Amino acid sequence: MEVLYRSTRSNITPVKASEAILKGLSDDGGLFVPDHIPALEKSLKELSKMSYQEVAYEVMKLFLSDFTEDELKECIRKAYDEKFDTEVIAPLVEAEGAYYLELFHGATIAFKDMALSILPHLMITSARKNKIHNEIVILTATSGDTGKAALAGFAGVEGTKIIVFYPKNGVSPIQEKQMVTQKGDNTFVVGIHGNFDDAQTGVKKIFSDKELAKEMKEKGFQFSSANSINIGRLVPQIVYYVYAYVKLLQEEKIAEGEAINVVVPTGNFGNILAAFYAKNMGLPIAKLICASNDNKVLYDFFATGTYDRNREFVLTTSPSMDILISSNLERLIYRIAGNDAEKNAQLMSSLSGQGKYEITDEMKAGLADFYGNYANEAETAETIKKLYEDCGYVIDTHTAVAATVYDKYVKETGDNTKTVIASTASPFKFTRSVMDAIDHKYDAMGDFELVDELSKIANVTVPNAIEEIRSAEVIHNNICDADKMQQVVRDFLKL
Ligand SMILES: *Cc1c(COP(=O)(O)O)cnc(C)c1O
Repeated sequence: MEVLYRSTRSNITPVKASEAILKGLSDDGGLFVPDHIPALEKSLKELSKMSYQEVAYEVMKLFLSDFTEDELKECIRKAYDEKFDTEVIAPLVEAEGAYYLELFHGATIAFKDMALSILPHLMITSARKNKIHNEIVILTATSGDTGKAALAGFAGVEGTKIIVFYPKNGVSPIQEKQMVTQKGDNTFVVGIHGNFDDAQTGVKKIFSDKELAKEMKEKGFQFSSANSINIGRLVPQIVYYVYAYVKLLQEEKIAEGEAINVVVPTGNFGNILAAFYAKNMGLPIAKLICASNDNKVLYDFFATGTYDRNREFVLTTSPSMDILISSNLERLIYRIAGNDAEKNAQLMSSLSGQGKYEITDEMKAGLADFYGNYANEAETAETIKKLYEDCGYVIDTHTAVAATVYDKYVKETGDNTKTVIASTASPFKFTRSVMDAIDHKYDAMGDFELVDELSKIANVTVPNAIEEIRSAEVIHNNICDADKMQQVVRDFLKL
């Protein structure tokens, strides 16, 4: 049965997958959600014999039902190629009784590559299918990793331009260097005075500006989004949960049908929502463990049923999770409200008005699949150090938040179900924080000295993504105030 996409905020006429990918966000400000979650067609046993690309096709074809077989296979072929430094694309590493699903083997060494290497191809294909001749302008707010992955994906892609806004003082030195050295005439990178939420709010405002949209259209442009609210990002993320499960099955670490737990270091709630969708497709997942850093708005939400962003924004060593408004949570809220757009819209309007909302007890019952907890800075650093000392495996700060929360979960519940931890970034992307956690003696070293030192102690070659920026020239040095973002966009597009 064809999957169509509805808005979380009003009862629009459902749109096809390609239209939802092109638009990014529904006109009413809502997020697109599938009208039903399709069940896996192939058995887990059959899937266990497949490559990453083949599993990707089996999963994605069910959600992107208006793509032809040729179109989708072509997108997958172009996305999951030598840009990844391993043929298996997403390897599993066993350490201290858990399975780390390494999602950082793509071009920019963070898990955003898993979806952003395919999104440009899905978008170009969607434009062709819908006979769109406008140039597509990708507008993106980033907490660090989305920006570079989107730039790498869209750079040089004909018929597109990409503008990335990042919080000037809210990303790691390596993350910033990766973005400001991005080549490609169609790319534009801007640091803003403000945090990620300011950047994201600014982008959403630009998207919903009707006057601007009209001017854009006259000049032959239209906006789309590479943020994780785009279903073209969400759907490719479901793939690796299915892949991880069937690889464990193939390696006889689990029996067919045996349930696993999944732990996800969470910011905007996109990655864990993909795991939830995988579960709803029939993948045997028991608990979805949502790990937060000191910005623990999600932990509080799971504990109390109240989502409250009125609190201090904390800059942590896991900057890609420094988020107080988890955009993708809206898709879950809509669902636990019984797919009731009106009810969800009320809650979201309370979020933008009072900065908070409270769900009913009935809705709370819909959260039973989830467990939430958080890790503070000291705990996160301790986990990196301990794992390294115990087994020589070095994980990044985001993954360490997840590993810490997993530890707390096991202590609290005694649940020994086999567990996959989403490993969302290479430690080379957050070298300073990682090395500092292992030993303070590294504090005095320069960024790239640290890279070489990490390579030595972890016995891992320095990834290409890091080698590239060692001597790369800074191309983008634009900075603006959060309330000037629209003007920056106008200037870039010469409106
Ligand atoms: C984006 C990101 C996250 C958070 O993922 P969400 O889908 O936003 O929850 C976690 N870790 C890293 C390294 C990231 O880049």
